[in-house]
Amino acid sequence: MHRRESRQVHVGRVAIGGGAPVTVQTMTKTDTRDVPATVDEIRRLAMAGADIVRLAVVDMEAAVALGAIKREVGDFPLVADIHFDYRLALEAVRRGIDKVRINPGNIGAEWKVREVVAACGERGVPIRIGVNSGSIEKPLLEKYGRSPTAMVESALRHVEILERMDFHDIVISLKASDVPTMIEAYEEIARRVPYPLHLGVTEAGPGLAAAVKSSVGIGHLLAEGIGDTLRVSITGDSAEEVAVGLEILYALGLRQKRLEIVSCPTCGRCEVDLFRIVHEVEARMPRVERPLRVAIMGCGVNGPGEAREADIGLASGNGVGLIFRKGQVLRKVPESEMVDVLLEEIARLGRTEEPSTTVGAGS
Ligand code: SF4
Repeated sequence: MHRRESRQVHVGRVAIGGGAPVTVQTMTKTDTRDVPATVDEIRRLAMAGADIVRLAVVDMEAAVALGAIKREVGDFPLVADIHFDYRLALEAVRRGIDKVRINPGNIGAEWKVREVVAACGERGVPIRIGVNSGSIEKPLLEKYGRSPTAMVESALRHVEILERMDFHDIVISLKASDVPTMIEAYEEIARRVPYPLHLGVTEAGPGLAAAVKSSVGIGHLLAEGIGDTLRVSITGDSAEEVAVGLEILYALGLRQKRLEIVSCPTCGRCEVDLFRIVHEVEARMPRVERPLRVAIMGCGVNGPGEAREADIGLASGNGVGLIFRKGQVLRKVPESEMVDVLLEEIARLGRTEEPSTTVGAGS
């Protein structure tokens, strides 16, 4: 897939743009001032697969807490989300934050912006300009309405301030809750500036609707080669945001899944409780050291072919199943043992060094 060329910035150990792999971000929902809870949340999100985590910095106490949080999570990349108050940005940078999200046009006097830019420049901390369709400046709203053009012009105003100060470690986001608006805005800004883009559909709502909206909006742009990092926004657990973000990347081949489950949709031929088997395997899946493809199939008609192609396969039928390992039948098991035997084999093969036959490089 051809990707738009963009300037590269570094969020601590993680690169954004310039051909770096697309990264998945999310935000903590804890009070940043509560250091132990925030550290636990960051660790949980990192385990879920987040590459970068953003924290809301609402006051000076939260900005100061970033120091202790950074010490606990080591080099895991963190972003401070700050609105208006330049002192919070300065403190966050002083405490070792890896990136700041703040809109320079909202900071106030130019000397305040210069101080933030100088601090970020000195420590190599990039700034994300985050424009949301809901908070566009009044003059732009009057001129363009709540439109993709208004969002782009708003972002360009902020960009121009940073460029005037010779600061170019910029990331831009243009989020809207309306998917076509967000797509158009990102397409336009991608033509106008060389900076990496952080993709997102804002206020996407709960669960399924949010996942679909984000997948359509973010997925459409990524398929066009636009976008360097993303955040799925869901009213719910942040780990869910990470899971959906990763699935978008897997679906487009921008990242390789370590464990891919291929399961049939079931039909009238299915003679076992395949939904239960798949859900149990998914829920109890062990961590693996290398990519694996696992096929779980419902009958002896189409099942064996797919099961044979996978690293580990189950072709079930009539209350029993054949377990395959790399194309060879390992054993026949009753339905009651299918999940345990599959998990055993996944754990065993997932630990070995032999290269997978079907899946490429790891995530
Ligand atoms: S594998 Fe068998 S049970 Fe599953 S959908 Fe295909 S034919 Fe139906």
